[in-house]
Amino acid sequence: GATIGILGGGQLGRMLSVAASRLGFKTVIFEPGGDCPASHVANFHLQASYDDEDALRRFARSVDVITYEFENIPTSALDLLDSLKPIHPNREALRVSQDRLTEKTFLTDLGFATAPFADVPDAAALDAALATIGAPAILKTRRFGYDGKGQARLQSAGDATQALADMKGAPSILEGFVDFSKEISVIAARSQDGQVAAFDPGENVHEGGILRTTTVPADVPARLMTDAVLLAGRILNALDYVGVMGVELFVTPTGLIVNEIAPRVHNSGHWTQNGCLVDQFEQHIRAVAGWPLANGERHADIVMENLIGDDMDRLPALMADPAVALHLYGKAEVKPGRKMGHVNRLVKS
Ligand code: ATP
Ligand code: MG
Ligand code: MG
Repeated sequence: GATIGILGGGQLGRMLSVAASRLGFKTVIFEPGGDCPASHVANFHLQASYDDEDALRRFARSVDVITYEFENIPTSALDLLDSLKPIHPNREALRVSQDRLTEKTFLTDLGFATAPFADVPDAAALDAALATIGAPAILKTRRFGYDGKGQARLQSAGDATQALADMKGAPSILEGFVDFSKEISVIAARSQDGQVAAFDPGENVHEGGILRTTTVPADVPARLMTDAVLLAGRILNALDYVGVMGVELFVTPTGLIVNEIAPRVHNSGHWTQNGCLVDQFEQHIRAVAGWPLANGERHADIVMENLIGDDMDRLPALMADPAVALHLYGKAEVKPGRKMGHVNRLVKS
């Protein structure tokens, strides 16, 4: 059987590895860290740094196709790997989504609404950006942000100095604050021959910048559900994308606004593990391996809840709850803000 290489050894890499194994594939994880969630389930863990050219070559030799669980892969490593083995999703998808400025420009060029945004390459540029965008606003680093990290909120122009200090000189963008009624996301897959399958949009609640729950079905009008799914399909086609993508959307009175896209399986798609015949992880592996996509139709109502930090104290109660499917990542140490696992609660069938 074929071997799938996965860049990144976190929980997403772990669940991709499990799905691959269920389909008869072997997996090799490339991850600088030692005891990581994916290393417990993959066939091999190549522990090396992304600047170790030799290790990257060994990794590429040992696999048939390469995918990844996170978008912040260093460009030099990508260039090398790309010259050695096929990478799905492709380089263009990564280039676009690694940088919030490139990403928002790509989305507006496609004709989609985003939050108003302005480039803030340095501290001096913030005043002009604020004059254009207005307050309230959010200053976000262009690269490397996740779980709300690398962001500062500005209630008024007076918060500018503090916000700049929070960014520590990183190139940033200023986004106008979107007054949304809900956040939803679409998890969609595209196969190598261009077939697209989207899961039902889920409704997301964040706390402190971190995803707390995803509820399906989302409580939004049918026409917005359709808009969301069609929009995701257009993004996938535009990128000639192969694999699963998460598209985060704000629901506003004037329609959908695209927040960001993630070129990978997505936390807000974890409900598919218990709400669909084939989940986002299998759908991604199918696409990457050149298989047709499966039916992603939803057969249950689910609330997915992340287990973050001290939420693990509730584990005994959750274990005893017969309506709950537990997914734990095998992380040894509980830390505040660390995603330790999630539960999928069956609401009705
Ligand atoms: P993720 O972990 O999803 O990758 P991230 O760190 O990339 O998150 P964003 O998704 O940009 O960050 O922002 C996190 C959350 O902050 C959003 O889900 C939303 O709740 C809020 N938020 C972000 N941008 C805006 C905005 N322009 N207006 C209003 N709220 C926003
Ligand atoms: Mg993000
Ligand atoms: Mg986000």
